[in-house]
Amino acid sequence: MSRWEEMADRVLAGEAVTREEALAIMACPDAEFLELLSQGYRLRRRYYGNWVRFQHLVNIQSGYCPEDCGYCSQSRVSMADIARYPLVDVETMVEGARRAHALGATTVCLVASGRGPNPREIARVTEAVATIKQELPVRVCACLGLLRPDQAAALKAAGVDRYNHNLNTSEAHTPAIVTTHGYQDRVRTVEVVKAAGISPCSGLIVGMGESDADLVDVAFALRALEVESIPINFLHPVPGTPLADRPLTPPLRDLKAVIMMRFVNPTREIRLAGGRELQLRSLQALGLYVANSLFVADYLTTPGQDPGLDHQMVRDLGFEVEPPGLELPLP
Ligand code: SF4
Repeated sequence: MSRWEEMADRVLAGEAVTREEALAIMACPDAEFLELLSQGYRLRRRYYGNWVRFQHLVNIQSGYCPEDCGYCSQSRVSMADIARYPLVDVETMVEGARRAHALGATTVCLVASGRGPNPREIARVTEAVATIKQELPVRVCACLGLLRPDQAAALKAAGVDRYNHNLNTSEAHTPAIVTTHGYQDRVRTVEVVKAAGISPCSGLIVGMGESDADLVDVAFALRALEVESIPINFLHPVPGTPLADRPLTPPLRDLKAVIMMRFVNPTREIRLAGGRELQLRSLQALGLYVANSLFVADYLTTPGQDPGLDHQMVRDLGFEVEPPGLELPLP
């Protein structure tokens, strides 16, 4: 029995991996990678079978952000050539949800740039969410920045199922990435979301110059916060952003991060998110042996691959796209 099989047996028996074991996954020799991957697949199969959940992003407000997140093309320090527009109207948000449904997504994510929402944004998003929930069999995830309890309560009352606010990186590495808000601000928003009864979604970005220990720190922080959905983004170094010159990371290292996240958070929804086409390239499909969710179509300011290729990838693996209404338990 390999050490990875023994570790997976213990996780399947309900035991939590240790920090040292998570670090060992990140340091797994490439020669052992396939065995590690297959043990990650055992965990994924236990909780999600061969289903793949599709989600779709709608960028409802782009650019003009006062924050300085180094990876983001919408920040105040970004010179990236992107579309910049204020909050779109309700019909445009609903139209985005219709497109999500047509693409096979069971969750639509309404994402606005900015430090946090103002009353006008909350009012417009809540109106749109009510319409979407009436019309379409989709879950709605909102991502509007730092949130106060009264704003979270308003979103909950409108029918928002999930709220995304990524930790992005470890507490130690955060100051190298952003200076206009801190790691604890992000943690607080996740806690506010949970307290309002909204399912918390929070993840990270791999490839921002962090160490393996930073990635392990985030995985354990997400476990401690009991987040239910974990998007794993891979840095897309956009020209004009402070991280534009960061080299791409080896795809096997990216995949080890996905596997490590599965071992630390075995029951959680884990999504291959932004940058997967660029960073994982030909190894994207391997990621689905461990992750159980994908963003389909374009990201906020960068194009994704053709949605037909994502459907094809799922079929090629012998997996199935989760249909609307299947209602796999939200872990
Ligand atoms: S990640 Fe969000 S808060 Fe940070 S700069 Fe981009 S839009 Fe602003």
